[in-house]
Amino acid sequence: MPGQFYDVIIVGAGPAGSYTAYRLASSGYSVAVLEQKEAVGVGVCCTGIVSAECFDSFGVNPELILNRANSAKFFSPSGKYLRLQDNRVQVCVLDRASFDQAVARKAQAVGVDYLFLSRATDIVIERDKALVEISHHSSREKLTARAVILANGFNPRLSQKLNLGEVKRFAIGAQIEVEAGDVDEVEIYFNQRIAPGFFAWLVPTSASRVLVGLLSMSHAKLCLQKFLLSPYCQSRIVRKEDKIKQKAIPLGTLPRSYGNRILVVGDAAGQVKPTTGGGIYFGHLGAKIAAEVLGEALSDGDLSIARLSCYQRQWKAKMGEEISLGYWTRRAYSKLSDRQVERIFNMFDSGGIARTLLDSPNLSFDWHSRLILASLRHVLVYPLRKAWHLFHKEVGL
Ligand SMILES: Cc1cc2nc3c(=O)[nH]c(=O)nc-3n(C[C@H](O)[C@H](O)[C@H](O)COP(=O)(O)OP(=O)(O)OC[C@H]3O[C@@H](n4cnc5c(N)ncnc54)[C@H](O)[C@@H]3O)c2cc1C
Repeated sequence: MPGQFYDVIIVGAGPAGSYTAYRLASSGYSVAVLEQKEAVGVGVCCTGIVSAECFDSFGVNPELILNRANSAKFFSPSGKYLRLQDNRVQVCVLDRASFDQAVARKAQAVGVDYLFLSRATDIVIERDKALVEISHHSSREKLTARAVILANGFNPRLSQKLNLGEVKRFAIGAQIEVEAGDVDEVEIYFNQRIAPGFFAWLVPTSASRVLVGLLSMSHAKLCLQKFLLSPYCQSRIVRKEDKIKQKAIPLGTLPRSYGNRILVVGDAAGQVKPTTGGGIYFGHLGAKIAAEVLGEALSDGDLSIARLSCYQRQWKAKMGEEISLGYWTRRAYSKLSDRQVERIFNMFDSGGIARTLLDSPNLSFDWHSRLILASLRHVLVYPLRKAWHLFHKEVGL
């Protein structure tokens, strides 16, 4: 509340902010979360797909899961598809707004204060405290805390002001919820004309509701409008009463996610898988590490940049390589033509690569690097294997 001196002020009530708040308040610290919107979960733009393991670790009600999936159809540019199914990997499709609200309720239950319609406009770090200026109901107020956590999504203004640098590259995700028939499993479309550099999706949330979306480097809304008119969607959509929502997704990490009395978590720090744009799980890992590092620093009374720098070392050790390799893979994919994408699909299909990868221990919904490297190995040796096969046939061995 205004006038109160908090241990920690967190800017942003998304999953990363609320989960960090929950962890810190559970350790006995006084925490306030500032949210610029009128409530948690308002206007979220997200498909809500997470691994079952990720969902469990938030410890919220399983009733928030709209759907579960362990199979998906992957469509090539020509419209051929590979259907992959694996019983080990299970993903959940969450009601994202209700999920955010549930994480916030958990935080409130351990004493976190939420201040809505409160946009942090400035942060000033002083020797013995941090001052957060908020604009609240057209008035300006100042709140004080020992430390601040930025969990404000992809929104570079405050991190730039604090000299933490900025995430320069980003993609745009656009999505709409529709009433549709005949979509009984997740469908992913790889086609550079539909979703340049990325992919499009249809994700059923119930027997008749489907999330249709895509990621793109630019003009995501326009690309989605075209996709909705394509044969993949048009004949299956019964009603479209929702509006297209869109949001930026960081592709790369913030140069510095710590400073004197400050840490940055979630999308704001670039804790996102660049292959899929998924940020709930990596943001969750970042939040856990941030709460641990900051909790210890608060208890030792040392909130210096030197002390807090171990936050970045720890989260980069956990997911830095994944993010770099994912970024590299996404860039390589964005340079392929549809014809080359089609050829890779054919290799995966006829060469049995897809099956081999599905059966391998490298398959994980959250960790892609081992799968990327295994796929690359298969794709590179595929022409040799094919030539060897032909040679055997020719010489009648
Ligand atoms: C179309 C689309 C589909 C996606 N699908 C998936 C998916 O299936 N799975 C997945 O894991 N990820 C997905 N993502 C990514 C996921 O939504 C983000 O990674 C996730 O929301 C990041 O959480 P966060 O808490 O870091 O930030 P956010 O959820 O963006 O929350 C930040 C909060 O901070 C508030 N805020 C911002 N600035 C201020 C300020 N100055 N003062 C006060 N409050 C402020 C905002 O209002 C917001 O509530 C998708 C993204 C898009 C665009």
